[in-house]
Amino acid sequence: MRRKTRSVYCRDIGIGSEHRITVQSMTNTDTRDVKATVHQINKLKEAGCDIVRIAVLDIEAAKAVKKIKELTDMPLVADIHYDYRLAIQSVKNGIDKLRINPGNIGSKEKTIEVIKACKDRNIPIRIGVNSGSVKKEFLEKYGGVNVSSLVESALEHVSILEKNNFYDTVVAVKSSDVNLCVNAYREIAKRTDYPLHLGVTEAGTIYKGTIKSAIGIGSLLIDGIGDTIRVSLTGDPIEEVKAGKEILRSIGILNDRVKIVSCPTCGRTQIDMVPMAMLVEERLKRLKKPIKVAVMGCSVNGPGEAREADYGLAGGKGEGLIFKKGEIIKKVKEEYLVEELIKTIKEHEGVNI
Ligand code: SF4
Repeated sequence: MRRKTRSVYCRDIGIGSEHRITVQSMTNTDTRDVKATVHQINKLKEAGCDIVRIAVLDIEAAKAVKKIKELTDMPLVADIHYDYRLAIQSVKNGIDKLRINPGNIGSKEKTIEVIKACKDRNIPIRIGVNSGSVKKEFLEKYGGVNVSSLVESALEHVSILEKNNFYDTVVAVKSSDVNLCVNAYREIAKRTDYPLHLGVTEAGTIYKGTIKSAIGIGSLLIDGIGDTIRVSLTGDPIEEVKAGKEILRSIGILNDRVKIVSCPTCGRTQIDMVPMAMLVEERLKRLKKPIKVAVMGCSVNGPGEAREADYGLAGGKGEGLIFKKGEIIKKVKEEYLVEELIKTIKEHEGVNI
């Protein structure tokens, strides 16, 4: 069951237990380069991203927010460290959310100014504590980076906002260590009712980082924890969105595409199944139907699995069976198996693939 939280709105996108789990990413362009940044934001949108974060590292970048907002309809988050003026300027220029740690932006007066600017325009704030940004005081008190120091550090930022009657807060406690990350989120989930932004920070390159993120983010989502996710990968941010969406699909939170079940092949396989599975996946990747399609190598487990699916094929020796909703509908030669499967799906789903 999903952990109950408050609702926070990043423009028209609700974040919290009353809303669907959203996928976020972050541009890696220079935000001052409006054209390149908007181009990447649009690519992220095409890939299915819900909210995009941009780095605002100086006043020029904060000024660029205005132009970027004019050129895209994506909800945007300004990522700001230390300088409260960048936060104020970004808010004035129409940013939809801030990622800032209120304890790190200087004097009480400056903090109040940022909070007031956000309140006036209903802009939420995401607090993001990670292994590298735990306050020295907490590192000393709790003996380094661990669940307690991460969580207490985040809660301190939360309490600064609360003291100023600000509650439109989303919280993240990220670490590149999957165990620490998961345990920190589990702990903070018990201590607050703010929506949580999940992520394994600096997870690594595309392959390894996706696995780490799937374990970390996936474990928490299965526990019902988490309201918005970002997969952090060293690579094209589009890959982050693809991975994020696939994590949601893998655990049944998102059912917007065809689910392919394919066997690993073994010594019993007597058809050239690997390219068949890849071809089926490729042919069906844009089909927005929550159907299950099985591609199985043999008649031992194949027909059983294929019957469970909406459509499927199961290989034999130089030939195979086509299934539809649990029934064998055809026996065809190996070379026609994929085409026949696709044809069956087209006919019965009324789609053009
Ligand atoms: S379905 Fe058949 S071919 Fe595929 S792994 Fe299982 S036993 Fe092997």
